[in-house]
Amino acid sequence: MNKSVFNPDHQQQDVSSKIVAGLERISEVFKTLLWEKAKHIGLSPIQIQILIFIAYHKHELCNVSHLAKEFNVTKPTISDAIKILNKKEMIIKDYSSPDSRSYTILLSTLGKDIVSQTDDFANPLKSLVSNFEKTDLDKVFSTLSELISKLNKIGILKVQRTCYACKFYSKNNDSNYCNLLEKTLLNDDIRIDCPEFEEKTN
Ligand code: SF4
Repeated sequence: MNKSVFNPDHQQQDVSSKIVAGLERISEVFKTLLWEKAKHIGLSPIQIQILIFIAYHKHELCNVSHLAKEFNVTKPTISDAIKILNKKEMIIKDYSSPDSRSYTILLSTLGKDIVSQTDDFANPLKSLVSNFEKTDLDKVFSTLSELISKLNKIGILKVQRTCYACKFYSKNNDSNYCNLLEKTLLNDDIRIDCPEFEEKTN
C-alpha cells in the first residue's frame, strides 16, 4: 500500500499519519481566518501578519531579514509588503540602528489601530481549544513544543523561540530549568515565543 500520509487507507493503519493529515487541515484554518480579516481591512494576509508581529516582538526582530525568515518568504516579498504599509502610513521606518543601510520597522498610530482590529483573527480556534480539559491541553502542549523544537533542529522550521533551543535552558535531573529566570520550568512554564529567548549556539 502507498504509505503517503495523504492516503486515507494508510491513515487508517497509522495514527501518526492521521495526526500529520490533521495538522495539514488545521494549517488551512489560519489561512481562512486571516483571509477573512484581510478582505475586511483591505490588506493582504502577509501585511496583517507583519503588523501583528511588530506589535508583539522586540525591535531587533522587526527588520526585513528576520521577517522573511519568520514567515518563510523572500526578502523582496517582505520589502513589497513594507512598501505598501509605509504608503498607507501604518508603519515607520527607523534608520537609527548602527547599521545605517538597514532599518527597524515600528508601528504608527494607524498601524496600532489596525493591529487592534486584526490580532484576534485566531480567536475562533482559541475558543475551541480552550474547551478541552486542562490535562488534555497539557499533553498537546508538551508534544507540540517538542515537535517545534525537533522541526527546528532538522532545519525545516527556521525560526522558533521555545525554551528547548534557548541558551538559558538546561535539563536538571529530568526537570526543565531556565538559567535566566533562575527557576524550574513546569510543562506550563515552557514558552513557545519567549521575549528573552536567545538561540543556543552549539
Ligand atoms: S529565557 Fe525564555 S526561552 Fe529561554 S529558557 Fe528562559 S523562559 Fe525559556
